[in-house]
Amino acid sequence: MNKDNYDPRKGFEALRRGFENREGRTLEARVALLEALDRILTKREQDLESALRRDLGKPPIESYLSETYFVRNELRLICKNLARWSKPKRRRSPFFFQPASSWVSREPFGVSLVAAPWNYPFQLSMSPVIGSLAAGNSVMLKPSELAPATANFLAEVAHELDSPERFQVVLGGPEVGSACLELPFDHFFYTGSERVGRLYGEAAARHLSPSVLELGGKCPAILHHDAPVAETAKRIVRQKFFNAGQTCMAPDYVVVPEQLHESFVNKLTDHLRESYPDLTDLGRIVSHEHYTRLETLIEEEAKSIGQDEPEGLQLAPRLLPNAGWDIPAMQGEIFGPILPVISYTDLSDTIARVKSHGSPLALYLFSRDRAWAEGIAAEVPSGGICFNDVMKQGINLDLPFGGV
Ligand code: NAD
Repeated sequence: MNKDNYDPRKGFEALRRGFENREGRTLEARVALLEALDRILTKREQDLESALRRDLGKPPIESYLSETYFVRNELRLICKNLARWSKPKRRRSPFFFQPASSWVSREPFGVSLVAAPWNYPFQLSMSPVIGSLAAGNSVMLKPSELAPATANFLAEVAHELDSPERFQVVLGGPEVGSACLELPFDHFFYTGSERVGRLYGEAAARHLSPSVLELGGKCPAILHHDAPVAETAKRIVRQKFFNAGQTCMAPDYVVVPEQLHESFVNKLTDHLRESYPDLTDLGRIVSHEHYTRLETLIEEEAKSIGQDEPEGLQLAPRLLPNAGWDIPAMQGEIFGPILPVISYTDLSDTIARVKSHGSPLALYLFSRDRAWAEGIAAEVPSGGICFNDVMKQGINLDLPFGGV
């Protein structure tokens, strides 16, 4: 959609008319729409890859795994199972109602607004869009203005799909998002920061509509003294620096027992040097504003793996090996290639500090001692937990995803 002459209200009205037309949302029509979407995405895979490279310098393997493959896999899973999932579910009826039958049928909300962030600009836009279309809603998508090439790609996909009564893309920044929040959507699906999430929550309350808010947070990795140091360091490095650390469920910081601290930092350094001999395999920071914000979190004694390239917004991976709870990097979500390592002697004090940052989206616990790990899992409320690895809980389509 051309953002200069696109009117969200007119778009909303077209989507409302589309939703009122029940023929457009029969099971067959929904599957046909998703299959058409799949064909367009298959045909335009290379265009998507170059858009992601332009926006975030994503290496092709990262684009494929976390964006293209993820979404197409979900599309196919839904097409395969939609008929079964859509069937009404029988319920028992009390004997004094007999003869009677009871069932629960699944109905769409109506017209849904999906607002997406920039860090996985394709996946975090299309995954909720696909779910919403599959359920029979009409959908308006507002992608992030900070990933403009991908946002334009998504608008072109909507244009090619040519179902403006079912799916529209609105381009622009906060002012366009604000205009959308004035419209009486029947469902709000927001992914992004807590600050803006509140605006979506408030708008949903004003319109008395349900909402999903997928927010960020500070995800900790906690090691027990029996954690295998080399393997743990390798697994943390592999996932923390994916997409240059700009992943909502990446480990934000690591807490390690004092006796493992030195060997763990050495192993992290070795794995980082091995994984990123130069910056070609590391994505870039999304904007100058975020680059500058991240620079202020880097302390003097930070260990840098490689050279920064500020013009290309490439920030070399950093370890903050002797981090404390009071440093700037521990005051909010980092969302970049910087990893503080905090050593501890007193576990209960550590748990209290972890909890003081609020409930994380993910918690990573490394130990061979199941009782130790389960004890911490019970104590720290978190959206998801992965034992002895990182991010696997968020990638498994058979597990739910979200905050607490
Ligand atoms: P953001 O809040 O700046 O933007 C998200 C969307 O909201 C964008 O489309 C933006 O244009 C729109 N927006 C911004 N201001 C608005 C306003 N005033 N009114 C209406 N819409 C407005 O978030 P971001 O910086 O793009 O995303 C980063 C955050 O998202 C991080 O905190 C990260 O942890 C979180 N995140 C969470 C998940 C998850 O699944 N839980 C996934 C990815 C990112």
